[in-house]
Amino acid sequence: MLQVIDLHEFLKDERVRCAVKVGSIIRYTMAEFLQNKGFIEIPPVIISPVTDPLAHPIFNGEISYYDNKYYLTRSMIFHKQMALLAFDKIFCFSPNIRLELAEKARTGRHLFEFTQLDLEVKGASREEVMQLAEEMFIEILKRVKECCKPELEKLGRELKIPSRPFKRISFEEAYNEYGKEYEEILSSEAKEPFWIIDFPKWKREFYDREFEDREGWLADMDLIYPEGFGEALSGGEREYKYERIVKRIQDSKMDPKEYFFYLEIAKRGLPPSAGFGIGIERLTRYICGLRDIKYTTPFPKIPGKYCI
Ligand code: ASP
Ligand code: MG
Repeated sequence: MLQVIDLHEFLKDERVRCAVKVGSIIRYTMAEFLQNKGFIEIPPVIISPVTDPLAHPIFNGEISYYDNKYYLTRSMIFHKQMALLAFDKIFCFSPNIRLELAEKARTGRHLFEFTQLDLEVKGASREEVMQLAEEMFIEILKRVKECCKPELEKLGRELKIPSRPFKRISFEEAYNEYGKEYEEILSSEAKEPFWIIDFPKWKREFYDREFEDREGWLADMDLIYPEGFGEALSGGEREYKYERIVKRIQDSKMDPKEYFFYLEIAKRGLPPSAGFGIGIERLTRYICGLRDIKYTTPFPKIPGKYCI
């Protein structure tokens, strides 16, 4: 079967060389920024009996080993919560496999293998991790401007440092005003990154915390890039009490048995926390001003295609 990309040509493409250099500076800056704030980097988990259910349709990625079933990591959300039994603040450059439908190739921002910087903070509020994300984002932009002048020039990209705090809009407001395409419309109109907060339960996974006094609504958020680049990160405060987690799994019409290992840990106690995951390739794409995410990695996994 023919591969979709002529990799020999692709790897000589100026856009790839520039974007991968920018991506390298992004990772370096993230790690340094978080280490300076007392975060511990934990190694990634590639396979596990539990992984993120995700709230959109994808193919299942699983393997078996000695008759035991493992999922390929779709996000390390549950491992982040569990790692907080050992540390107060953790991060991970986490490879995720999300076997997206082929039609997602058209968005220019989906790869079926990508890396997210995933972080979680014990006892933190949503507000605190939003502040952290804004600070880190600005630090990254400054560093890239400083270290990647020739690359940004070749890409014809001029970067402006956004002002803080980033604007916020609730999901309800956004949806009522713009309908189903709210994210695309708002992202295209925006000149600076902004937050969408308070998603409804039906839109998200069971692990984002439901407000006690506002049933059906969650203490979570997305960061959205301007200029039509779309979603940057998702995160929120987490459900951490065993009974509540079980109820949320049942509300989502899923079987708690699927989450046995995680629930056994939750039963013995998980700390409250907040965190988020930010896709490195999407951030690289935004910073480089590239319409197609494939240029951000030497070996892009394009939805629906056979890729090396
Ligand atoms: N659930 C997010 C994701 O899409 C990450 C997070 O909430 O921390 O991977
Ligand atoms: Mg998301």
